[in-house]
Amino acid sequence: MLDERDVAELLLLRGAEREELFRQARAARSAVFGDEVVVRGVTEITNQCRVNCVFCPMRRDNTRKNSDFRTESSQLVDVAASVKASGINVMFFQGGEIPQTTRVVGEALPGILDLYDGEVEILLNLGNKRRSEYEYLREQGATSYILKFETSDPRLAEEVRQESLDSRLKCLQDLLDLGYRVGTGSIIGLPGQQVADVARDLVFARDLGVHMCSVAPFIPAPDTPLADHPAGDVELALNAIAVSRLLAPDWLVPAVSALSKIAGEGQYRGLMAGANVITVNFTPDEQRDRYLIYGRDRFVVKRDYASGVIARTGLRPRGSVFLEPSLVETP
Ligand code: SF4
Repeated sequence: MLDERDVAELLLLRGAEREELFRQARAARSAVFGDEVVVRGVTEITNQCRVNCVFCPMRRDNTRKNSDFRTESSQLVDVAASVKASGINVMFFQGGEIPQTTRVVGEALPGILDLYDGEVEILLNLGNKRRSEYEYLREQGATSYILKFETSDPRLAEEVRQESLDSRLKCLQDLLDLGYRVGTGSIIGLPGQQVADVARDLVFARDLGVHMCSVAPFIPAPDTPLADHPAGDVELALNAIAVSRLLAPDWLVPAVSALSKIAGEGQYRGLMAGANVITVNFTPDEQRDRYLIYGRDRFVVKRDYASGVIARTGLRPRGSVFLEPSLVETP
């Protein structure tokens, strides 16, 4: 089993040795998932947030400056209809961390399950909530939940999220206990981070027993305390994707849009490094322009772009893996 030192060495590989790492990662992916990439459809449901992450333009301190929005349940069902019409059966709701999203999403889910005759994965990324709220959402039909720990260093976590790592981990444990398929993830390029820290984050994620994990390069966004901090290293992020695949071959590992924002064809390279998920954005234009996750000029992945990227890799798009329990086992 790979340990932190092995992982740190793999993260530093470049040139032919790195190509071999990527080849091994693709082989590990193929052994579990065949030559297929999961396609998700996301809609962003609010840009309001009670948390104050130093890297995020939607942080609490910016609330008054931003033109805020909060979607209603009926609008979520409408978006789900568009996602279904595109042939996608992973409906992903993402938003800032506010308690109101529990009701809004919970009330939308029965209608969305009806729309799909139950054949849909409902994936949520709505932040820390009380266990009873996670339980309610699960009962309403939610399948999976993404809650990134961002960094496994408790001091740095407190600095960047201005909340304790423990509170995040407690929520992750609640999600696992309630039977969610759980995703987590970390950021590469936070202040003071070394390669050894990135290695520790990856091993930490493996030991959590989750089903999905992302690594995203940090992107400096305007109007945040880290606006002048350099962007994360995409090359290191690509190695981290490949190492993630070797650490846990049955993880869903996304080729995140942050890779493309920095490096042009980063999502293609992410898939070639062993990632197996791509997310298409279905947020209505007016709201999407106000969801400032990486600032105003974020890179938005549309269906045609995602299809083109997947086709270039020689892989094929597919739907949820969690609707076929045999494909990804609970750890
Ligand atoms: S990263 Fe998420 S939790 Fe943090 S401020 Fe932004 S929206 Fe809120």
